[in-house]
Amino acid sequence: MTIAGSDSGGGAGIQADLKTFSVLGGFGATVITALTAQNGLGVTGIHAPPPEFVAAQLDAVLTGFPIAAAKTGMLFSAAIIEAVADRLAGTAFPLVVDPVCMSQSGHALLQDDAVEALTARVLPLAALVTPNRPEAERLTGMAIASPADVAEAIRRLLALGAGAVLLKGGHFDKTADVGGRLTDWLGLPGQAPVALPMPRVETEHTHGTGCTLSAAITAGLGQGLGLEDAVVCAQRYLHRCLETAFAPGLGVGPPDHMA
Ligand code: PLP
Repeated sequence: MTIAGSDSGGGAGIQADLKTFSVLGGFGATVITALTAQNGLGVTGIHAPPPEFVAAQLDAVLTGFPIAAAKTGMLFSAAIIEAVADRLAGTAFPLVVDPVCMSQSGHALLQDDAVEALTARVLPLAALVTPNRPEAERLTGMAIASPADVAEAIRRLLALGAGAVLLKGGHFDKTADVGGRLTDWLGLPGQAPVALPMPRVETEHTHGTGCTLSAAITAGLGQGLGLEDAVVCAQRYLHRCLETAFAPGLGVGPPDHMA
């Protein structure tokens, strides 16, 4: 199950999640938190349903399907977050939380006053939270520059109640890459963060990479993989999709799921 926003451009959000689930052999149900009017040039509008209708979608999916794993993406508002957290509390399947705050084109996908609701209500439900650098900085309130900062940021995110943290390395300076590979960091309670390197693909067509990665992790968890295996398989999936990423229209394109 994905609980996320729709991208009319087809590259990110719900659309990326469903493609990923399908390619990786899963069946995806969707709870749509917001509609975005969007293409490869940016976001031109957001329309969110009443929180009660998000809850109604969740009720329908939770009663109608044996959910193996779920993810959240764009949650948009504090009221939608409350509705989602109320319904997810007490569920037993693993939840991957992609704490989407802003599109790469710079449009807010999470309202400013919703950050606290996300940390207070959703992070404690997460088996894994998957922030990039700016998202981790926003959620922890600290600047993250060095590997030492990464460990502290992970510690703070675990203290907020997440079961594990994948702090993604794509937004760090390329000079930190080792042998053409960026580093994603996996943090588990009581353990030093584990470095999970991944080749950095030189492409501008990266729209929806975070959605794709978190959906692939969710698919892996739903198929019974352990957390680290699910993350490594998802990195490989995203890497393959990025190698043939292209723009189907104007502007920035998404990873190519048919690769
Ligand atoms: N639009 C929607 C609906 C999303 O869920 C996401 C996910 O992060 C994005 C856009 C952002 O994609 P990007 O960061 O690649 O612009």
